[in-house]
Amino acid sequence: MSQKKVRVRFAPSPTGGLHLGGVRTVLFNYLFARHHGGEFVLRIEDTDQTRYVPGAEEYIMECLRWCGLEPDESPLKGGPYAPYRQSERKALYRQYAEQLVAAGYAYYAFDTPEELEAMREVEKARGNHSPQYNYSIRKTMRNSLVLDAAEVATLLEKGAPHVIRIKMPENEELRFSDMIRGEVSFQTSTVDDKVLLKADGMPTYHLAVVVDDYLMKITHAFRGEEWLPSAPVHILLWKYLGWEADMPQWAHLPLILKPDGNGKLSKRDGDRLGFPVYAMNWTDPKTNELTRGFREIGFLPEAFVNMLAMLGWNDGSGQEIFSMEELIEHFSIERVHKGGAKFDYDKAKWFNHQYIVKTDDALLAKLFQPVLDEKGMVAEPAFVARIAGLVKERCHFINEIWDHGFFFFIRPEKYDADAVKPKWSAEKQAFFEEWAQVLEGLEDFTFAPLEDSFKQLAAAKNIKPGELQLPFRIMLCGGKFGPPVFVIAETLGKAETIERIKLGLAAFA
Ligand code: GLU
Repeated sequence: MSQKKVRVRFAPSPTGGLHLGGVRTVLFNYLFARHHGGEFVLRIEDTDQTRYVPGAEEYIMECLRWCGLEPDESPLKGGPYAPYRQSERKALYRQYAEQLVAAGYAYYAFDTPEELEAMREVEKARGNHSPQYNYSIRKTMRNSLVLDAAEVATLLEKGAPHVIRIKMPENEELRFSDMIRGEVSFQTSTVDDKVLLKADGMPTYHLAVVVDDYLMKITHAFRGEEWLPSAPVHILLWKYLGWEADMPQWAHLPLILKPDGNGKLSKRDGDRLGFPVYAMNWTDPKTNELTRGFREIGFLPEAFVNMLAMLGWNDGSGQEIFSMEELIEHFSIERVHKGGAKFDYDKAKWFNHQYIVKTDDALLAKLFQPVLDEKGMVAEPAFVARIAGLVKERCHFINEIWDHGFFFFIRPEKYDADAVKPKWSAEKQAFFEEWAQVLEGLEDFTFAPLEDSFKQLAAAKNIKPGELQLPFRIMLCGGKFGPPVFVIAETLGKAETIERIKLGLAAFA
C-alpha cells in the first residue's frame, strides 16, 4: 500500500432511500478508513438533476448518524476539499473536459436529440438492437471528429448546444487490479463514448467522480459491483487527465442477493417477503409510498451494522458478534468475498436478538418508551427497565417487549378460563383468599419469601403447590405465559398482586 494517508469516500446520488447494500458500502469504507487511521468522506453526487429527489440527502446523512458511521468530511461538516456536493462544484469540471478535448481524448458532439433518435432508428433497422454512440457510429455523427475545425469553431462561437464525449479507443485491452476481484480486464470496444459534460455544463457522473476522487485525494474507491462496467471509462479518464500515479485502488463490493440467491436483493423482494431492505423508513415524495426500514422495524443500530459486516465478510475465525471497535480492528478489504452474499432475514433477527440481550435494561426501557407512549401507558423508568430485563431473552425486537410483558402494564381483560375452571375447587378458592391475607402482612415482597409463604400455606392445606401455580399465573397475566410467576408478583408489587388475586377469584367463581 502507498504511504499516502488513506482517504475513502461514499459517494451516493440522492435519488431515494438507502438500500442495505448502500449502507454496507458505507460501512466497509468506514471500517477501512478507521483501521488505517485514515479519513472517510461523504460526497453527494447530485449532478443528474433529473434524478434528484428532495429529502434523499438528509435521509442519507441521518442514516449514517443512526448507524454511527459519521464521515470526517461532508456537506454538513465541511472539510479541506469543500464543497462536498457536486452541484456546487459545477464550475470546476469544464476545464478538465476541455483539457481532454485539447489532448484528443474527447470531442464535442453537436447531435440534437432528433439526430440521436434517427441514428438509433437506422441502427435498429440494420439489426443492431442496442445502438451505442461508439467508435463506429461516431464517424457518422455531427461531432468535432467529423466536422472540420472551422465549422466546429463557428458552432462553439454561436453557442450551439453540445456535449463532450470521451473517445473510447477502438480496440484496446484495459486492465486493473481490484482489491477483491484481483485482475480485471475489459475490451474498450464494448464501451460507448460516454458523455462527460452535458449541454447545460453539468458534468456527468463519470467525469465528476474521477475529478473529485482526484481533487479530494481519494486513495481507495470502494463501491458496489454494479459500477464495475463503468470502471474502464474511469480508468481511462485517470490516464488521460495525467493522474494515473494518483489513481485510487479499486474494490467493487459483491451484491447482496435475494434469500434464494437468485439475483440482487431489491426493495420489491422486501415487500414480497415481508422484511425491510432500506436502512430507515423512506417515503417517496412523489408517490407518497412508504418503504419500511430496519430502524423503524426495531433493529438496534449496532445489530444492523454487525449483520451488514457479516454480509460478505468474516475474519476467518468463526466469530459473528463484533463490536464496532472489533470490526475496525479485524476488518480487511481483501477478506471480502467475491461472490454475492445471500440475505437471510432470520439471521438478521438473530443478530438483533443478540444485541437486545446484551443491552443494558435501562437503555432498553428508553428505546421501548415510544411503544408505551403510543399505547398511552405511563410507568416509572425503573419499572420498565425491570420488565425489559425480564423478557429480553425472548425478544428479537424492542417492541416485542410489549408482546412478552404487556401484562405488567395492564390487568388481564380476560382469563384463560379453560386452563383453570375444570380443576377449580372451593379449596383452591379458600387457599387464595387466605393467601391474599397472608400477603398483606408480608414485609419482604420478593420472590423467595413469596414462594415460601405460598408453599407453606399449600402444605398446611394439603394442596400440591403445582396445582395452584397455574391459576395464580392466570390471575396475574391472564394466560399461560410470562416469566416465573413469583417474579411476576414481585415485579407487580404487593397491592397490585393482591388486587389481581381478588379479580381472578371473582372471574373463576
Ligand atoms: N454516485 C454513484 C452512486 O450513486 C457512486 C458510485 C461510486 O462510488 O463511484 O452510487
